[in-house]
Amino acid sequence: MEELWFKFKSYLSKLVYFQRRSRLQRYLFPVVITILVLPLIFFLPRQYFQFINSQTISFLAFVLIATLSSWYGGLGPGLFATLLVTIISYFTVFQLDLAHHSRTGDLIIAYIFLIVGFFISVVSEARYEADLQKDEFLALTAHEIKNPLSVIRGFAGLIRKKYKNLGKNKLAHYAEEIDSQSVKLSELIDDLLDMTKIEIGKFVYKDELFNFSSLMKEMVTNQQMVNSGRTITLTCCDEKIVRGDKYRIGQVINNLLTNAIKYSPQTSPIKVSSKCHREEIIVSIKDSGIGVPKSEQKDIFKYLYRSKRSKQGKIEGLGLGLFISSQIMKHHKGKLWVESNRHKGSTFFMQLPKNY
Ligand code: ADP
Repeated sequence: MEELWFKFKSYLSKLVYFQRRSRLQRYLFPVVITILVLPLIFFLPRQYFQFINSQTISFLAFVLIATLSSWYGGLGPGLFATLLVTIISYFTVFQLDLAHHSRTGDLIIAYIFLIVGFFISVVSEARYEADLQKDEFLALTAHEIKNPLSVIRGFAGLIRKKYKNLGKNKLAHYAEEIDSQSVKLSELIDDLLDMTKIEIGKFVYKDELFNFSSLMKEMVTNQQMVNSGRTITLTCCDEKIVRGDKYRIGQVINNLLTNAIKYSPQTSPIKVSSKCHREEIIVSIKDSGIGVPKSEQKDIFKYLYRSKRSKQGKIEGLGLGLFISSQIMKHHKGKLWVESNRHKGSTFFMQLPKNY
């Protein structure tokens, strides 16, 4: 239910975010829905609708058309729909109730149409502008927070090296802690930004050919460097070229790796392997951690879901990483799933078609 609601909200947001539609599309939209909706009024079985006159029926149709048009296209198309429907209604639908027909009455109703349409369009535009500003603010703030973070990381690295050389391991450890907490903060900001982008349909993907084995090696080496107490083994197939967004696929692998590290004891090993088939690559990441009960194996890929065990164990997290990862896999026509036995850890699988 929660997932359905999320999907509905993101489809709605995609409909509202019109800045990427061409002008022709935006102005054609009111014409198309007017052609679809207005003629329906003529086919209404009048004997059942005697309580309502034709101006009222066309007013309801008009509100629908003006709202949809301004949602889809913004102020201009909203006003265009208002004018279009008012003029067409005035010369057609208004004339249906000949018994009550009065020219002044019709004109007053047409003015009301214009005023209501104007308000609908302006409110839509104002809401869109406010959302746009919010997005820009978010992106800017994220950028502003990440800049000082990378400086903090740089200096923490310098301090760690210096104190390690001087044999002051405690101080070197403090610097290491500053570094790892800054990385977490930076990942958190990335997740929040990605979520906002997914919700508003602005999560864009590159379409490129890249070397999958090199990407796997790079991701594992990076994690091995920051988690020196771990043994992360990699068995990688030779398959090289895959089509997709290298950065986003790397993000999925990284998410699975960091989870394997986060949800397993500090010194336990992590096994990463990839198998190349004719059409696809299957990656598996195996840990010996807290595992995922069968009843929750589907849920953990949902928006904001965290398993009971991770909450009981007070392991930090937001429940966004796997959701974002499964959205990325969906785009690449791939899959993510988990197999886990109680107290034997979990193995996360990623299936990636070579050409999606
Ligand atoms: P987060 O780790 O920030 O909570 P994720 O979306 O990455 O968010 O993971 C969702 C949930 O899936 C986690 O809260 C945890 O309960 C479970 N999970 C993910 N990876 C593992 C793992 N390797 N072992 C056990 N549980 C896991």
